[in-house]
Amino acid sequence: NRRIVLNARPKGAPDDETLRLEEGEIPSPGAGEMLLRTEYLSLDPYMRGRMNDAKSYAEPVKIGEVMTGQVVAEVMESNLSGFAKGDRVLNTSGWQDYAISNGDQVLNLGPDPEHPSWSLGILGMPGYTAYAGLLKIGEPKQGETVVVAAATGPVGATVGQIARIKGARAVGVAGGPEKCKHAVEHLGFDACIDHNADDFAEQLKSACPDGIDVYFENVGGKVLYGVLPLLNPFARVPVCGVVSWYNLPGLPDGPDMAPAIMGTVLRMKVKMQGFIIFDSFGPDTYREFARDMTDWLKSGEIKYTEQIVEGLENAPNALYDLLVGKSFGKMVVKVA
Ligand code: NDP
Repeated sequence: NRRIVLNARPKGAPDDETLRLEEGEIPSPGAGEMLLRTEYLSLDPYMRGRMNDAKSYAEPVKIGEVMTGQVVAEVMESNLSGFAKGDRVLNTSGWQDYAISNGDQVLNLGPDPEHPSWSLGILGMPGYTAYAGLLKIGEPKQGETVVVAAATGPVGATVGQIARIKGARAVGVAGGPEKCKHAVEHLGFDACIDHNADDFAEQLKSACPDGIDVYFENVGGKVLYGVLPLLNPFARVPVCGVVSWYNLPGLPDGPDMAPAIMGTVLRMKVKMQGFIIFDSFGPDTYREFARDMTDWLKSGEIKYTEQIVEGLENAPNALYDLLVGKSFGKMVVKVA
């Protein structure tokens, strides 16, 4: 049983010292337990935060503890009613081949789900994040302009496509011409701007001639600063993530941007609201998401792209790549 544990807390970007692969025995389930074999492991930006010993909405991973993460696993042996050998489940047993579970907080996907890994992406946490954050906080209206960065990632790609379904204009921001082409030609964004361009702010302005009504905040940094002067009165800013800052060991050098941010929020009467998907919306919102997303995937209105990395041993570097934009689509590790 291979497990990847937190070896040392990174200062800045994680490196070869951050995570460590360990080998051990395959555990056996006792009464009221089941043995799960991980099939797919989801890699997500929040994992960088769990490596820090800092106050957050979730406990940090302890040194020597298995890295946290959502998985789709197969039930290998079960002493639990409601879970049979061969069932696939959604669980948070982290970066390891096998885990024991008592069934708490485990969702049974049945013996033969059509796209098992989608429960980690478009039909799971990132898809729901895009849906609830955009529709319940962003509230895009017909003809409005919605801007979202990380536009080809699982959250951003979904935000842009839902914005279009709701009749808004979707302007994406992504790293590089290939991602921008994908956003426009495959995902249907109205425009997509490369944040690496020297004249990024001017390009963003040209792509948003009527200003910005909803900025779905995924990345912070340069993209946020480009967006600020374009926000319209009563703009909405769901604050979902600030991935460009996750590897920062402290406050960056440079001018203090707080007056520009708070001044804009005040003058433009911006509604800026953070959310954490696990506890910010009620069960009704989740049900609406499950219904709408299933329909949109069936009708082809929403398209979904995954990047599958083979092998648990490759998960650390895949996560580090994801944090700096070297992934394309939803990053998932095929473990078994
Ligand atoms: P992605 O798979 O899209 O990965 C992150 C992307 O961020 C990278 O691919 C890269 O895309 C972009 N990025 C990285 N560094 C920078 C930078 N310096 N400037 C601009 N863009 C950068 O991630 P997800 O779709 O899974 O998540 C998107 C955001 O949503 C994250 O901030 C995440 O933490 C947040 N999130 C929040 C949740 C909540 O409950 N609040 C739940 C789930 C996700 P590119 O190459 O295109 O720049």
